[in-house]
Amino acid sequence: AKKLGKNTYQIFNASMNTETFKLFSLESDLRKALELNQLELYYQPRVNATHHQIIGAEALIRWNHPDWGEVLPDDFIPIAGKTSLISQIEKWIMKQVCLQNKSWQDAGLPAIPISINISPQRFMDKDFVMNIKNVFELTKLEPEYFQIEILETSLLENENIVIRVLQELKEMGIRILLDDFGTGYSSLLSLRQCKGIIDEIKIDRSFIYELSHSDEENSNFITKTIIDLAHHLQMDVVAEGVETIEQQEILQGFKCNTIQGYLYSEPVPASEFAELLIKGKIE
Ligand code: C2E
Ligand code: CA
Ligand code: CA
Ligand code: CA
Repeated sequence: AKKLGKNTYQIFNASMNTETFKLFSLESDLRKALELNQLELYYQPRVNATHHQIIGAEALIRWNHPDWGEVLPDDFIPIAGKTSLISQIEKWIMKQVCLQNKSWQDAGLPAIPISINISPQRFMDKDFVMNIKNVFELTKLEPEYFQIEILETSLLENENIVIRVLQELKEMGIRILLDDFGTGYSSLLSLRQCKGIIDEIKIDRSFIYELSHSDEENSNFITKTIIDLAHHLQMDVVAEGVETIEQQEILQGFKCNTIQGYLYSEPVPASEFAELLIKGKIE
């Protein structure tokens, strides 16, 4: 029994070391990626549900890895989130997005707000708000052209700190979007508590998928109910992951404000996004 115990301990230890090692090598690779400019931002347009005009965009990170090619965020953001690197990455993203947006505006392109994703950890950085102020000062971008997307998990942990930070950001003129609504712990009740803090909700794409793939009347009804409640709470609604005209038409009928999804455009590199922006409208 003693021997087994020892072996078990060793196996446990070995696997822990592997995990630690993976985390460590990915962290050092990512750190290099930041220095070597291997991180790149893609932009996905948000389109008015009725007029199909581009009214905003979301910035999404990509990692151009020298050996692995393009790495998607789901494969490194959660791991980066376990280290202090996430702060550095998100600071880089914020500055990059503001510089990019300002340079598009200076070049005479239509002025639109661009959102970035903020991880729950970021709210615990004492210099978070200060850093945002500094970026606006440096880039001269008006705060109304910058938005943040947060997850409900951000609101659940350290609620008081997070709400205070969000209020400070709102006073600066930044709009707050609630990402992936309908997944995780969210409920219609908790949405009510977000009144005055959340400006816009993004309905998760799992609901949108159901709109045309399910025979159930109920799935359409749930989405309509979420939209109506959000409007009642003076929040706008973005539908995520819209891929078909049928979904778009249902959402338009439900008075959904904004549409984001492959139907209009995948996330594209900055230069391609600028071309979309010049056209203004996506057919
Ligand atoms: P998210 O914030 O929910 O972003 C939307 C994801 O859905 C993006 O995946 C986008 O490419 C994808 N998508 C957009 N339209 C469609 C569609 O019509 N159909 C389908 N099937 N998918 C669609 P992506 O770029 O791989 O990002 C995945 C997640 O990684 C994001 O989910 C976000 O949670 C996270 N992420 C991305 N960039 C950042 C970042 O800069 N910071 C942080 N903290 N997280 C990020
Ligand atoms: Ca998002
Ligand atoms: Ca989302
Ligand atoms: Ca997501």
